[in-house]
Amino acid sequence: MKLLKTKALVLRSRPLGERDRLLSLLTLEQGKLSAVAPGARKIKSRLAAGVDYFTYGDFLLYKGRSLYTVNQLEVEMNFARIRGDIRAYACGMYLCELVARLVEEGQPVPPVFNLLLECLFCLNKKKVDGEILVRFFELKLLSLLGYRPYLTGCLKCGDEQGPFFWNNEEGAIFCRRCCPRTGEIFPFAKGTLALANFLLEASPERIGKIRAGVEQKKELQHFTEKFIQYWTTAGFLRGLAFLEEVYSYSRHKS
Ligand SMILES: [Zn+2]
Repeated sequence: MKLLKTKALVLRSRPLGERDRLLSLLTLEQGKLSAVAPGARKIKSRLAAGVDYFTYGDFLLYKGRSLYTVNQLEVEMNFARIRGDIRAYACGMYLCELVARLVEEGQPVPPVFNLLLECLFCLNKKKVDGEILVRFFELKLLSLLGYRPYLTGCLKCGDEQGPFFWNNEEGAIFCRRCCPRTGEIFPFAKGTLALANFLLEASPERIGKIRAGVEQKKELQHFTEKFIQYWTTAGFLRGLAFLEEVYSYSRHKS
């Protein structure tokens, strides 16, 4: 079979030559793959509407020797509200970047597909706190890909009372007594640990109801960032830097 009919989400969309676009897709059937959308840079193209970031739809792909080509596309959801809100947009871009970096090409990962889709639907609603949603997504994605963080307490002695500290040389959380004194260390409050645990177990529908303070969100952001850098091969995440910039700007203004 040279044709692949699948639901897919656009993770990335880049111009390719004068006429085409090169897409990175997360497909339900075949996982992550690259596909050319021929003629999609032309305004009149029937593909033009469906090749933007985080478009969700039914794709009919033709498999060539090294790349897929988009043959037909029926857009199911284009997440207009995400596109119209700079903060939601920055969140959505980052979720897609993280998936693009951490998921291997050509391996079906339906739970990751569903997680990303559910989170984009959440982001598309007005009420959700984007920062909380992003932390939820990071923790769930890490867990689905086999990097679930140990968040019960101190990694060494099992103490659950705290206070806790993240040690960047070990890539883990310790109590004051057990925390090695070398490497970058920063405090990780018991409440933040509880929030992280809650997010790890929560369903996407609950995310809209969760509230957290600025400091707690900052601490959790710092933790997930360091954790991802330590345990995965994601490397520098441009989307995360952009997201932090957008949020710190809007915090400054309000
Ligand atoms: Zn300990």
